[in-house]
Amino acid sequence: MNRRQLLGLAAAALPARHLAAQERAARAVRGMPSPKIKDVSFIATAPGGLRLGVVKITTDQDGLYGYGCATYTQRADLVVEAVNRYLKPFLVGKPADRIDDTWQACYNSSYWRNGPVLNNAISGVDQALWDIKGRQAGMPVYQLLGGKLREAADCYGHASGAEIPEVIDSVRKYMAQGFRHVRVQVGIPGMAAYGSGGNVDTKVQALHTGPVYEPAVYIRRTLKLFEACRKELPEDLELCHDVHERISPTQALQMARDVEKFKLFFFEDPLSPEDLAWFRIMRQQTSTPIAMGELFNSPHEWSPLIAERLIDFIRVHVSQAGGLTPCRKIAILGEHFGVKTAWHGPGDVSPIGHAANIALDLTSYNFGIQEYSAFSDRLKEIFVGCPEMKNGYLYANEKPGWGIEVNEELAKKFPYGQNERDERSRYNGGWGEVRRRDGTIIKQ
Ligand SMILES: [Mg+2]
Repeated sequence: MNRRQLLGLAAAALPARHLAAQERAARAVRGMPSPKIKDVSFIATAPGGLRLGVVKITTDQDGLYGYGCATYTQRADLVVEAVNRYLKPFLVGKPADRIDDTWQACYNSSYWRNGPVLNNAISGVDQALWDIKGRQAGMPVYQLLGGKLREAADCYGHASGAEIPEVIDSVRKYMAQGFRHVRVQVGIPGMAAYGSGGNVDTKVQALHTGPVYEPAVYIRRTLKLFEACRKELPEDLELCHDVHERISPTQALQMARDVEKFKLFFFEDPLSPEDLAWFRIMRQQTSTPIAMGELFNSPHEWSPLIAERLIDFIRVHVSQAGGLTPCRKIAILGEHFGVKTAWHGPGDVSPIGHAANIALDLTSYNFGIQEYSAFSDRLKEIFVGCPEMKNGYLYANEKPGWGIEVNEELAKKFPYGQNERDERSRYNGGWGEVRRRDGTIIKQ
């Protein structure tokens, strides 16, 4: 009789509860069984018009699966193809519990890397694997990252209006809800201001018929907005503002100096990713706190800004950088160099992506602020377990993984392309164009 037969006889003689206890003890010693990736699928849903992408990974273990945000709303169809036609065949059969290894394999397998489509596809996989690990451990992902450094994520909301008094009213509404930080953006009559509706009845003379934007007009009007905010709102209210990289580097430098007196919490995207070298000059000439990075896809963009301490807040869009795995490394890099986190959190991040943001917010010592976009009732019906907002603080779901279950049947009822108007409808969810008076294209 060999050893296995002997053990079998011994086991048969034991009551079931002893066997169960032995199995539990064995699992505790050996760790959890390693799940394998059985299937990779894509959930494409646009319940509010914005195209949201979520990757679902199922494993060979019954009921063990996970979700990850892969939302690149302006080129959404391409991410679906990248996941279904390239990552799925690459991943099926691989272990589901080697997250960083899987990330490195996906990242390197395309040879050319750091682009928005492939990074989003990888993010969907990466976050789904973190969800799986959390579900397997019976813990929220923030626990796997070391546990909380704070109770909840302090957030800022978006206050806007066509005219300055409307912006002030909008700020007061956020303050009434408990927000301590608010981003302010004002419209420009007849122009396509970023972050705020303008007065469409006013017509601006231009050499074309499309949306018009003039950087100098924006700057003058925005300085007036800050003056009004500081005059009319409590001094302990923290103000943020997004330039959205729409002005020239020299204008950005002048504006950053001009807003110093308003003591902004942060001044966002004053320069384009194409103009990173200007941050060295800006840093030497102004103490206005700079937030940058929502357009970043590559470590070549964020690494020098952090390592040279040229910015105050890193604003990376987690799925655009490739998911939780690279972004926790960005957060740790920032901690070493005194750069705080302010992960991008607009409406074109799925609730899974917002959950990943909060996991980072709670577990990074150098957390700065979290951008907040409200979840609609329909979104909450599809993504059951969205993070909760109370008093300007966003709370993580305490369930295992991201704590979110996706109602996949309901998600299917809102395919890409529904509720899209104008340019988005014409360009398959993509954006159109904005030009200066003379017809020169400017950055969106
Ligand atoms: Mg922004």
